[in-house]
Amino acid sequence: MKAMVLEKIALITDTSAPLRLRTLPDPQPAEKEILIQVSACGVCHTELDEIEGRTPPPLLPMILGHQVVGKVLRCGPNTRRFRAGDRVGVAWIFSTCGDCAFCRQELENLCEDFCGTGRDANGGYAELMRVSEAFAFRIPESISDLHAAPLLCAGAIGYRSLRLTQLMDGQSLGLTGFGASAHLVLKMVRYKYPASKVYVFARSEKERRFALELGACWAGDTADETPEKLDAVIDTTPAWKPVVEALKNLKGNGRLVINAIRKEDRDKNWLLNLDYPVHLWMEKEIKSVANVARSDVADFLALAAQIPIIPEVETFALAEANKALLELKQRKIRGAKVLVIDAA
Ligand SMILES: [Zn+2]
Ligand SMILES: [Zn+2]
Repeated sequence: MKAMVLEKIALITDTSAPLRLRTLPDPQPAEKEILIQVSACGVCHTELDEIEGRTPPPLLPMILGHQVVGKVLRCGPNTRRFRAGDRVGVAWIFSTCGDCAFCRQELENLCEDFCGTGRDANGGYAELMRVSEAFAFRIPESISDLHAAPLLCAGAIGYRSLRLTQLMDGQSLGLTGFGASAHLVLKMVRYKYPASKVYVFARSEKERRFALELGACWAGDTADETPEKLDAVIDTTPAWKPVVEALKNLKGNGRLVINAIRKEDRDKNWLLNLDYPVHLWMEKEIKSVANVARSDVADFLALAAQIPIIPEVETFALAEANKALLELKQRKIRGAKVLVIDAA
């Protein structure tokens, strides 16, 4: 099979091409695994972190890609869930131990043995991919392969962050930062909690306009201007100032959910502005989001089919993965970037 392979950690620049097109032996499905003929694989910011070494694969070479859609080509021994020809997807959660306290409580996203697709195990920048059948998802019929791929990461993590806010219909929600995941959250809220008002904080004028088009009741630059206190806030920024501002804006019993893999040190001093009575008193809570559990992916796909959510996409051939990643790094974004992989 053909695959785009990461062989060594490198910076992505105009002149570097960190992923190499290689021909590798076809993977074989082991016990309880399925072999997928990949047709589409979304390109995610996390891949930039993997390639540039901020969250490097523990072993190289590695095939990246964790928003994988395709058809089951073959089932390994003792598989039950799928048959050849079924449309399936694979998300960031590739496998977990299945046995620890977290795994037994459907908090498998917190398992110590959590393996990320395309970082800890070969992913979908390839013609073929194998995965345990327990970690593959059926794709709803109404969503095409191409449109399903970008939903598997930003959508599932957005779904989890919304779930962690414990929002109820009618309660107000703030979104700090308005990237792919936040705009999917806004679409979900409009559908699931029609009486809830959504406030969007974004630095770019374009993002604010987009938020209002999608049904936000208010969009502004800084939290100082918010017209009302909020029941919950989801923060997707890499900075600290929004955390402090969000806490100030929460009502008593309000919850701040931080959906960010890491925070930058640049404005860490903002934390010194934390004032206990203003920012924390009155049982305000802070919770971070880590990875996704299988139920987030499955529940989100069902919801996306219902609403429906059809993401805007921009397609690339498998061999153009470096170009897609460079554009993502340079923020040349016209829609979710998806590698389209033709059956050989
Ligand atoms: Zn991702
Ligand atoms: Zn576990």
